[in-house]
Amino acid sequence: GKEISTKQLCDIMEEAYRRGKEVLPQGKVATYIPELGKADPGALGISLCARDGWHFNIGDTNRRFTIQSISKVISLALALELLGMDKVFERVDMEPSGEAFNSLIDLDLISNHPMNPMINSGAITVANMLLGKMSFEEIQDVFRKVCEDPEMESNEAVFRSEMQNLSRNRAIAYLLQSKGILDDRVEETLELYTRLCSLQVTAVSLASMGMTIAMDGKLGNGESVFTGRTMEICKTIMLTCGMYDRSGRFAVKVGLPTKSGVGGGLVSVADNHVGIGIYGPALDDKGNCVAGGPILEYLSRELQIHLFQKN
Ligand code: GLN
Repeated sequence: GKEISTKQLCDIMEEAYRRGKEVLPQGKVATYIPELGKADPGALGISLCARDGWHFNIGDTNRRFTIQSISKVISLALALELLGMDKVFERVDMEPSGEAFNSLIDLDLISNHPMNPMINSGAITVANMLLGKMSFEEIQDVFRKVCEDPEMESNEAVFRSEMQNLSRNRAIAYLLQSKGILDDRVEETLELYTRLCSLQVTAVSLASMGMTIAMDGKLGNGESVFTGRTMEICKTIMLTCGMYDRSGRFAVKVGLPTKSGVGGGLVSVADNHVGIGIYGPALDDKGNCVAGGPILEYLSRELQIHLFQKN
């Protein structure tokens, strides 16, 4: 990226926010988990965490919302650290699926393994790997550290709402069990997966998470949560699979490893440089924050942080 002044960065953030606001009416909040349907479709917040730990915030950056699928990145990182790369990718592939996040088409017709750890089938498999190795509380502690957010808790209402509307994930999990990819602890696995999705973050905590990943797993205080190798794998999978069947377009236009969640969160990583967190529960037709594209495309250009940019 280029050197810019604080004033310039504030102007860039304001313009990014304006561009995001403009497209919010094109999005819709998720309702397949009824409790998520209560979110305010007009909400928008952007937080940018710079290398020195400074956060630049604009809009609804302190509002809490559930992390949902962004949890898949931290779960994958934990599984990689606990089991090693070979064991993890024996059970989950590392190919973009080109299908919706909750699809089971590829799983049954194309491949006998989940296509990647960023879609539900893959993340449910990863949750099964963590089961019995770490308790929910221990995993939550890691989430709190990675996001520099010691107050992070689950949203019980969202958790219960999803547990009561779990047919599709349950179908995926039992299909996985029938193929021998999940062991018999199917219900426990679903509960852990859903609990992790219900942890509540803010745009600020997601920006810190982005920064932790950008810094190869190191926190602001120098403590190392994950190895550089683990972060390298996570960033690559975020780039190729993090936005589901919009990952290709996103990689071209934004050029930053990014992960979305249906709660409206986005985390984006400019390696070694910047972490970006966005909250906007109005989603596009793929279940990604609708404002994320215009915001990140603009920030990536202005800050010159596209992975493959030439000056
Ligand atoms: N908990 C959600 C689900 O399993 C997460 C999906 C998402 O954020 N895309 O359906």
